Amino acid sequence: MKTALFTPGPGNTSDSVRAALNCDLGTRTPQMMALTKHLRKQIAEVARCNDDFSVVPLQGSGTFAVEAMMTSLLPAKTPSLILVNGPYGERMAEICRIHALPHYVLRSDPLQPINVVTVADYLESHNDITALVLVHLETGIGITNPLEELLVLAEQRGLHVFSDSMSAFGLLPIKFASSSLSAVAASSNKVLHGVPGLSFVIARRDILEKPGTARTLSLDLKAQYHGFQHDGMWRFTPPVQVISALSSAIDDYLLQGGQTTRLESYKQRARRVIDGLAPLDIRPLVTGSHSAPAIVTFVLPFDEQVLSASLLSERLLSSNIVIYPSRVAEKNSFRVGFIGELTAEDIDRLITVMTDIVCEIRRQLA
Ligand SMILES: *Cc1c(COP(=O)(O)O)cnc(C)c1O
Repeated sequence: MKTALFTPGPGNTSDSVRAALNCDLGTRTPQMMALTKHLRKQIAEVARCNDDFSVVPLQGSGTFAVEAMMTSLLPAKTPSLILVNGPYGERMAEICRIHALPHYVLRSDPLQPINVVTVADYLESHNDITALVLVHLETGIGITNPLEELLVLAEQRGLHVFSDSMSAFGLLPIKFASSSLSAVAASSNKVLHGVPGLSFVIARRDILEKPGTARTLSLDLKAQYHGFQHDGMWRFTPPVQVISALSSAIDDYLLQGGQTTRLESYKQRARRVIDGLAPLDIRPLVTGSHSAPAIVTFVLPFDEQVLSASLLSERLLSSNIVIYPSRVAEKNSFRVGFIGELTAEDIDRLITVMTDIVCEIRRQLA
């Protein structure tokens, strides 16, 4: 039976993506250079960015791209403001600490989107800040942050904006036309439905071309960019098959209708799960327009001793269904992600199995 992955990626892959993995290419051949060039063009097409931006692919999972973006491109001498409303934001603050990048951290309620007025007030009292750094879609709980409004604020104040758009890229439009947008990081195995092992940063060429001191060797995004511009090759061994699979996944994505189609399909999946679990009294933790389309956190109507989220995950796993426990400590809750090749039948199976488990518990309690 298919293992249905209701996770924030890597998700289920299509037959064509798995077939595209079946390719052996020499890493220093013209075919590899052509594939890389083509992939960079495809990603730019998904982004709908103009030629002021360049796509810089990088080996490794999404965090590698976030760390490469931050260590290579953030202003070196003036502080950045890291906006944190969840675990992925915390991760960006940690990257700053590890690399001793000048920064401030502004933390806010993980159940709410970043508040633009609060950010504006903070900037009023911290005139030295020159960049905003944020997570576009906080996957930890499932919150969409107001990237567009923050770009407007940044434009007014002449700030640079750096976004971890990992589970938003390809799903939510990103305003590359904004003069404040400097770089966006994303990866193969989220909304584009590729396989893990490849990430990328879409960054302004003028920033990529500005000389600077490298802080790391393998995550040096400027060197990676210059490598591609210079001879079209990767500096270090590229994940050949993963690149081929992502290229195929993007073909499918564009053929199916791109961003609007994918957003619509995730919304439909979310609706089906929310409606299916409501009769069990299992409801979303976050509702409203900032509730993220890629992942929803649900609260269990039981004490941990009766049915914990981790026991529920275990029980579902034995039926080949994968969900993740929540990242909200104080609530008995779990996350259902909509990334990947999931069908209405997969969702109905999730609801049926969950209904069986919950009804059994209720019978025991009665
Ligand atoms: C998935 C994800 C990442 C990257 O995590 P990896 O484990 O390195 O792939 C970063 N930020 C967000 C918001 C994510 O959803």
